[in-house]
Amino acid sequence: MSLEPSEGMLPSPSGARARVLAAAHGLATAYLSGLGERSAWPRADIDEMLVALGEPLGNAGRDPAAVVTELARLAEPGISANAGARFFGFVVGASLPAALGADWLTSVWDQNAGLNALAPAAVAAEVVAGGWIVDLLGLPRSTSVGFVTGAMMANYTCLSAARDSVLAGHGWAVSTEGLFGAPPVRVFVGRHRHDAVDRAIRFLGLGQRAIVVVDADSQGRIEPHALERSLTQGAGPAIVCLQAGEVHTGAFDPFAEAVLVARRHGAWVHVDGAFGLWAAASPLHRSLTEGMVGADSWATDAHKTLNVPYDSGLALVRDPATVAAGFGVHADYLIDGVADPVERVPELSRRARGFAVWAALRSLGRTGVADLVDGLCARATQLADGLRDLPGIEVVNDVVFTQVMVAYGDDDRTAELGRLLREDGTIAVTPARWHGRTVQRFAVSSWATGPTDIEAAVAAVGRVAAGLRA
Ligand SMILES: *Cc1c(COP(=O)(O)O)cnc(C)c1O
Repeated sequence: MSLEPSEGMLPSPSGARARVLAAAHGLATAYLSGLGERSAWPRADIDEMLVALGEPLGNAGRDPAAVVTELARLAEPGISANAGARFFGFVVGASLPAALGADWLTSVWDQNAGLNALAPAAVAAEVVAGGWIVDLLGLPRSTSVGFVTGAMMANYTCLSAARDSVLAGHGWAVSTEGLFGAPPVRVFVGRHRHDAVDRAIRFLGLGQRAIVVVDADSQGRIEPHALERSLTQGAGPAIVCLQAGEVHTGAFDPFAEAVLVARRHGAWVHVDGAFGLWAAASPLHRSLTEGMVGADSWATDAHKTLNVPYDSGLALVRDPATVAAGFGVHADYLIDGVADPVERVPELSRRARGFAVWAALRSLGRTGVADLVDGLCARATQLADGLRDLPGIEVVNDVVFTQVMVAYGDDDRTAELGRLLREDGTIAVTPARWHGRTVQRFAVSSWATGPTDIEAAVAAVGRVAAGLRA
């Protein structure tokens, strides 16, 4: 007997699904093959998109395939071309083909990756891919790997373990006592840490005032001597947040020295490495992360440097028991076997993000991951060299990783360069402020960006800058 309703009653679910997927497949391949010709930035802004998508809901339903086709048509002008090769605005990454395919299947399979029993394949993919990542990054083998939405939540998850652990070290159990009456926790951050760290500290109930800002050098690297001075000015539970990959310069904190200083003061050491942590997977760039392995936790993204579709972040914590202290639900049965993912992350029900990460890593192999990182860095160096040769363009940072910042004379002219580049549409870059100056920032984060895309980017800047001079 067929399990599907017969013709003429309800529309056949398999028929509707097949038509929707065929439509989506056609739209997806058309989108991807047109990416090279698209404006890198969206052509429509939020107000225009609200109008485009904002028709009243209406009472009657519509054909699913027609809805998907309509969605693609209406959304199209407001789509950023960061899946392509010429998007350098923010660090967003694109999608490796294997990861994209696995991500489609993830939606089709619709697994809830919270529990082993409910989604054994999804959890196994996370556990195996997590093990690969720990190995690639040279982290301790027992490191807990939590698959979360992004580095924001990875920072939150890691810093939650940090908070609970440093307070436990001072005789305070957060999970039973809460935070009221707890000894104050000091959180030391470099002047150029990412806002995600501050947000995480706020989410964790520690308050912005817990944050002690430590001086950084011209590239945004924390100064170990300044860190030492700050730590000496008080006592009690302490967390030191370091950074692998500053979003403007791409700089890496001096981990070896900073970890030593933090350890002397009994602090937990956390590393925000949203895009930079992956340098550790490359023999050519690993030296940037020297000493990083001495930390207690590391936050990173899979949707940036690894080029997995949104959203995908990883919370890596040296001692799994410190994460389970806050998030664990069955802490007593953790002893044998694989703990449920809910023991490692804030969520219960959760998308099966492990499939896309597993597929990305499997398609690259160990060498491919290193080549991916090295390729992004080589493109950034090529870009900086090309831009430096243009009249009037100044590269303002030391290009050590994937980030390049430029100025074009004074602030007004640099801002105008950015506006005209946006209009031109060949590339996407983002305006920023660096040491009191307006700059345009390029982040190379797409696996698809090749040498000719960099040539096109340099040519676009040259063309637009020349127009501005004239
Ligand atoms: C992107 C980024 C974050 C935030 O990550 P999301 O993936 O947006 O959650 C945190 N820190 C740094 C250094 C980043 O580049």
